[in-house]
Amino acid sequence: MSLYRDTGVVLRTYRLGETDRIVVLMTAHHGKVRAVAKGVRKTKSRFGGRLEPISHVSLLMYEGRQLDVINQAESIDHLRSVREDLDRLTRAVALLEVVDQVAQEGEPDPRLYQMLVGALRTLAAQPAPLLVPAFYWKVLANDGLRPELDACVSCGSPDALVAFDVDQGGVLCRTCRRWVALSPVALVLLRRILGGDLVGALAEPSSPATHEVDALAIRAMEHHLERRLRAVAMFDH
Ligand SMILES: [Zn+2]
Repeated sequence: MSLYRDTGVVLRTYRLGETDRIVVLMTAHHGKVRAVAKGVRKTKSRFGGRLEPISHVSLLMYEGRQLDVINQAESIDHLRSVREDLDRLTRAVALLEVVDQVAQEGEPDPRLYQMLVGALRTLAAQPAPLLVPAFYWKVLANDGLRPELDACVSCGSPDALVAFDVDQGGVLCRTCRRWVALSPVALVLLRRILGGDLVGALAEPSSPATHEVDALAIRAMEHHLERRLRAVAMFDH
């Protein structure tokens, strides 16, 4: 068996036998990894509480035939403010759920890992209204599904863009409109999120436009994943 080091965020865990758990992680260099944490459910586990969902850890792992085995796990970020606040915790769960759905085992995606770590750190510092939707749009763009925001996806017109077509992945003009209405303010927010002003967009207070961007992000993500997201049902819209 070969030993390797990586860092990862715990996406979820489930029981294995009497005292062990399978830990599903988004790692920096190995993509999504399912690994065994032996004895983690014992009261005096050497892992302490470091392998709970949201934990960002530095890992030493053995490569197993079917599942890798976690040998050591050290905390990188404590993210205490996320764990101690239900609203932030719910948002963190929404991030983890999407990463779990999008990431593939055996397919490294360092950018997705970095985006997740960045989003969790931002969430710990300041829970911006657009944090989760911005993350969803960035994940879609990272998957090659960057939405068209500058011209109608139906006729190519750059004028009077008033709707968003989730199926086509972009905006629609007044003549071609169908699907979801999109206000000019929400369109500007989308352009800022995907066009290099993420920090500025995250500083925006909650407004009807941020709600629009949020609702549309959920629809676009659910369309991409071809399933409903469970965590968003917990949000208070
Ligand atoms: Zn058009």
